[in-house]
Amino acid sequence: MRLELCRYLEARDEDPAWKFRSSFILGAAEALETVPEAIQAAWKHLSQAYALAHKHFLKKTVHAGEAYGPESIFQAITDLHADRIGHAVYLFDADMIKSPEIKDKKAYIANLVQFIADRRITIEVCLTSNLQTNPAIRDLSEHSFKHMRKAKLSATFCTDNRTVSQTTVSAELLKAVQAFSITPRELKNFVIYGFKRSFFPGSYIKKREYVHQIIDYYEKVEKQFSQ
Ligand SMILES: [Zn+2]
Repeated sequence: MRLELCRYLEARDEDPAWKFRSSFILGAAEALETVPEAIQAAWKHLSQAYALAHKHFLKKTVHAGEAYGPESIFQAITDLHADRIGHAVYLFDADMIKSPEIKDKKAYIANLVQFIADRRITIEVCLTSNLQTNPAIRDLSEHSFKHMRKAKLSATFCTDNRTVSQTTVSAELLKAVQAFSITPRELKNFVIYGFKRSFFPGSYIKKREYVHQIIDYYEKVEKQFSQ
């Protein structure tokens, strides 16, 4: 699949029309995150595909920190130039750091969290999917979203997938509100972060207009249901 993506992107590299494309959603296959051998074999192609996408100013999302630790999140941002990170459930787990070069694991995590927060790299929190695939998360009180919230990270709620996890964005939002007692103000922020950091295909000016429309609509719905 990665190879195909590389070929696809390389073919587009020759195409003058490609240069006019301002954004493209590039997602990493789930298998790459969860099967180590697949990652090894596919890494070269994967990083080439991301480098090519980066060269063409495309926005990129990478699922990391789902099966691996904080270093995989760092790698997704620095090697693959991720604008958004899927999952990042192990962002705060010092025990998951494997590199012997990292002596002070606590400081590494603090710096990484700061790095993500500062750059407003958005984390796609996938509660249902994480509960289904990670046996260490027995209920949502054990999910690292609580730390992301405390650290004021740009986080938003996603399905990861709609079919395998059998969920919807609305169901994920409801689940989050119930599990974490999210306030209306916080909920609005989490939803809007998703739109602000979306891979909108038009210009930045158009994107701003679109996000403002979303905010207006959100406020209208919020008003309607808060009465
Ligand atoms: Zn995923």
